[in-house]
Amino acid sequence: MNFHSGLRVELIGAGAAVVGFACVKEVTSGDISHLERAISIGVVKNLNERTVRLLVALEKRAARRLRERGYRYLCIPPDSDRANGTFISKLYPLITHKMAATLSGLGWIGRNGLLINPVYGPRLSFATVLTDAPLQTGTPVTGSKCGGCTLCMDFCPSHAITGNEWSQGVPYADLVRTKKCSSWKEGIRATSGKPNCGLCINICPYGRNAASALKDRIH
Ligand code: SF4
Ligand code: SF4
Repeated sequence: MNFHSGLRVELIGAGAAVVGFACVKEVTSGDISHLERAISIGVVKNLNERTVRLLVALEKRAARRLRERGYRYLCIPPDSDRANGTFISKLYPLITHKMAATLSGLGWIGRNGLLINPVYGPRLSFATVLTDAPLQTGTPVTGSKCGGCTLCMDFCPSHAITGNEWSQGVPYADLVRTKKCSSWKEGIRATSGKPNCGLCINICPYGRNAASALKDRIH
């Protein structure tokens, strides 16, 4: 088994739902321009700390394998604060977890602004490891496969989802009006104590059954 196949098998065995490899040389620059590949790791989203812990453990596992082979790498954590001024936070305008996932072929950006994987839908959380290892990469997904579905837009209680379809390069702001979504979430937190809304995740027809099956297996 070659290195990248072995790495995928190992990460899936350790709890990842999906693992993809992307060529990111068009998007990385400056201090990280030597890191031309990204490993995109997705786990079933539980909106809790366990999801983050699992992603960090999987990133460390990938990093260990890369280090053993003498490759350089940089782990972008799953829950990076985009505004704290650290080196990692400054990478976000260059490469996001969703961008790495689309470039590795793991899915497209849905009308709800989330990465939609054909098997797990929007029910995955991601972490990304950049590396100079010459990994064989997947075929980038460059357009939406939401098709005629508008369920997330129709049922979004804050009317935050514009209904526009994503293709590579379309900014998040064209898909989701962030302020409307966050005001709605603040409101339900204040009135019901619920931590999130999540309706645009639950209603998506992609991946309903697969995600709950995997969640049952690993939790
Ligand atoms: S989280 Fe709720 S309010 Fe925000 S976009 Fe999704 S459905 Fe709309
Ligand atoms: S609910 Fe429909 S439109 Fe929204 S992300 Fe899922 S497939 Fe796309």
